[in-house]
Amino acid sequence: MRAAVIQEHGEPLEIEDVSYPEPAPDQVVVETEACGVCRSDWHAWQGDWSWIGAGVPEGQILGHEPAGIVSEVGEDVETLEAGDRVAVPFHLGDGTCPHCREGRANNCETVLPLGLSEYSQGAFAEAFAVREADFNCVKLPEEVDFTEMAGLGCRFMTAYHALADRADLRPGDWVAVHGCGGVGLSAIHIAQALGAHPIAVDVLDSKLERAEELGAIETVNGADVDSAPQEIKKLTGGGADVSIDALGIAETCQNSVNSLGTRGSHVQVGLTTGEEQGQIDLPVDVMTMQEIDFHGSFGMPLVRYEELFRLIAKGTLEPGKIIGETLSLDELPETLASMDDYETVGIPVVTEF
Ligand SMILES: [Zn+2]
Ligand SMILES: [Zn+2]
Repeated sequence: MRAAVIQEHGEPLEIEDVSYPEPAPDQVVVETEACGVCRSDWHAWQGDWSWIGAGVPEGQILGHEPAGIVSEVGEDVETLEAGDRVAVPFHLGDGTCPHCREGRANNCETVLPLGLSEYSQGAFAEAFAVREADFNCVKLPEEVDFTEMAGLGCRFMTAYHALADRADLRPGDWVAVHGCGGVGLSAIHIAQALGAHPIAVDVLDSKLERAEELGAIETVNGADVDSAPQEIKKLTGGGADVSIDALGIAETCQNSVNSLGTRGSHVQVGLTTGEEQGQIDLPVDVMTMQEIDFHGSFGMPLVRYEELFRLIAKGTLEPGKIIGETLSLDELPETLASMDDYETVGIPVVTEF
């Protein structure tokens, strides 16, 4: 089958013929119908995250935002059969550790991120295997479109958990979103759907325009102002209630914290680059005196999908609105490379394999 394979970190992916996955007893094989292209793929391709023991080797198949159809079923799998339509959350849990038993695969003690570990080859391929498939696969409602659901395994659900669970967002809250890539745009759409007032911050007007279409009440182009946090404090009359770093560089993280008013909540969604290697200076005294919370947020507990699907069925949330261009596997190497310059708008989705 065809797959996009890392040759060398930072060098173009190559489309190769690789063997079709054989399901282990706990696994299913899913034929990929759609798979989002995410900044996490770009990070892994660059060779980032070795500082948290999470780098991928050369020869890796990336791709962690898939939706597809179950094709092969391991002998121990009980709840899935060939033909089932599924989305696969990127944080594949073991299903047995204390966190998984609470439905929190995102905190699993032996988490294997799909496509982001040499032990878990990803979905930029005609098919891929899913460990502990009964636990990890999320069945899609019949009516939803695969392409529109491609963000459900990563960015859309990540933004939902960040806002609804970690920040405990309330209607009327001001929410500053720093970085309007796929997860940032998802956060803006979700924030407005939940009755909050999103402010979009980016340095590219194309992304800010998309953010406005998705419900941003205000936009701040960080390249046009002296200080994005000061601008946000002016717009909100004292500071945002919730602020998200949806990118993961020192500047957006610090800007996010500095955008908050007293008792505000910062949510860190982006993981850092080779520049920061996970270390960022923060204004700790101000955070202490103003009782500012700093939340980490990673993926979403699987038990939260039910609520997410309800909101999608009601039309409150429309994940398809965040989707950008669709492309073929052959176009993927170029699209990934274009992320060096943050050029992609919305979530690009591979739909032809
Ligand atoms: Zn992702
Ligand atoms: Zn676990």
